[in-house]
Amino acid sequence: MAESTDKSKPYFPLAGGASDGWTKEDEATATCFCGAVQLAFPTQGPGLVNSFICNCSDCHKLTVSMFASNFTVEDSHLKHLRGRENLKTYSQSKTVQSGNNMTNHFCSICGSLMYRVSSGWPGKSIMRIGSIDDFHLMETKLKPRVEQFVKQRVDWLKGAEGVKQVHDNYFANHHADL
Ligand SMILES: [Zn+2]
Ligand SMILES: [Zn+2]
Repeated sequence: MAESTDKSKPYFPLAGGASDGWTKEDEATATCFCGAVQLAFPTQGPGLVNSFICNCSDCHKLTVSMFASNFTVEDSHLKHLRGRENLKTYSQSKTVQSGNNMTNHFCSICGSLMYRVSSGWPGKSIMRIGSIDDFHLMETKLKPRVEQFVKQRVDWLKGAEGVKQVHDNYFANHHADL
């Protein structure tokens, strides 16, 4: 991307099966890879609670990649625009460091993980930065504030620039207070 790109303006690259994502002053869309499931979420507080990277071992498996990039929203500010009936859930607590039960909500058609709900954070959903349709929000309002479980990050990755680095579980001590 060119250095002169104005990242305060929306940017919707061709990505996945849908092309009807949008951004407003305080709300934007997140869509699964096939386009069947679309959500609207808040892009500022109090509905937007935090934004963070996690390198824990669960997040390796969960993302089938090296880390997860997440943001947490209040359920009172989360809208299911379409495809809620396509979401399937999978829950477990065995490998979650906090011991909480985590329920993962996937698109049953394309497999995109849209959000997770923790028994330890009632009333909140942990969404995925990669699912949002306006890619510039990934670098502005949704940019992670914290990178946690740095101790489990693979050696060939460096920490995210300008992001607070935390060795272990940040939220065990700070809750959802970013
Ligand atoms: Zn899908
Ligand atoms: Zn994790």
